[in-house]
Amino acid sequence: MDWQLLGGELTRVSEVAQVRATPVMGGDINRAFRVEIGNQTCFVKTNRAQLLSMFEAERAGLEAISASNTIRVPEVYLTGCQGDEAYIVMEYIELGGRASPERLAQALAAMHHCCHKRFGFDCDNTIGSTPQRNTYSDDWVEFWRLQRLEFQLRLAQRNGFDAGLIDAGRRLCEVLDDFFVDYRPRASLLHGDLWGGNQSADAAGNPVIYDPACYYGDHEADLAMMELFGNPGERFFAAYRERFPIDPGYRWRRDLYNLYHVLNHANLFGGGYGAQARRMIERLLQR
Ligand code: ADP
Repeated sequence: MDWQLLGGELTRVSEVAQVRATPVMGGDINRAFRVEIGNQTCFVKTNRAQLLSMFEAERAGLEAISASNTIRVPEVYLTGCQGDEAYIVMEYIELGGRASPERLAQALAAMHHCCHKRFGFDCDNTIGSTPQRNTYSDDWVEFWRLQRLEFQLRLAQRNGFDAGLIDAGRRLCEVLDDFFVDYRPRASLLHGDLWGGNQSADAAGNPVIYDPACYYGDHEADLAMMELFGNPGERFFAAYRERFPIDPGYRWRRDLYNLYHVLNHANLFGGGYGAQARRMIERLLQR
């Protein structure tokens, strides 16, 4: 298959999608389709043309994970723009169920052993539909403070959340070092958005992850996200620990890492997430 030709074929992605594609449900952000092109089955996501960079960043993340040779991700064939639509075209993987906790743990631990010299990533990306900054830094605590928590707190302020939440969040940012007294994380390759909806298994039972928001950071951030909207279970953690020890301070930092995602949910969806973020901050401050 000549993927440049496919680019030509995808002129008017929406029309192609309506006529020759089956919508795929389950995503939050984009329209997604299973598209038959010749004898090739592809997975195509589309969105507004202005969001092309989001797909390019997704591609960079999937390619970084693929290059780590540790866990299966879809191969990306093409990103581009036609008319008013941006698209990403990738391998369609027949997904079903879950990989065994042991296989998932083994693959993720191996991925987390792929490290960079610094924290960050080659490009910014998005978390949900919120921009996520990944400017490289030598200092993980500074990275988490500036590019994760303070970024979301500024958004929350702009979105009109009450001053109590913002003030408490800023106070927490001032004492972040306290959570890292005896702990120096490595800059592990992270999926970055590893909730249950972004992981599955292929027909052979191999774990598959997709829709990443990659950066190099503390491996605990991926583990925490898995616990926020799911429960990987003790079998997963036991197998993971055998390959990548988890520091005892994780039980505190877990909330620190998940606070970022809860703040992001507050900014995206409102509802009870603001109150949840406030409770998390108060708990962390009382530690
Ligand atoms: P969004 O960017 O909108 O969140 P996702 O990338 O999460 O969309 O994809 C939506 C759903 O499509 C996923 O929950 C998953 O079930 C399925 N999916 C994702 N990638 C593939 C793929 N490469 N092949 C087949 N199905 C996929």
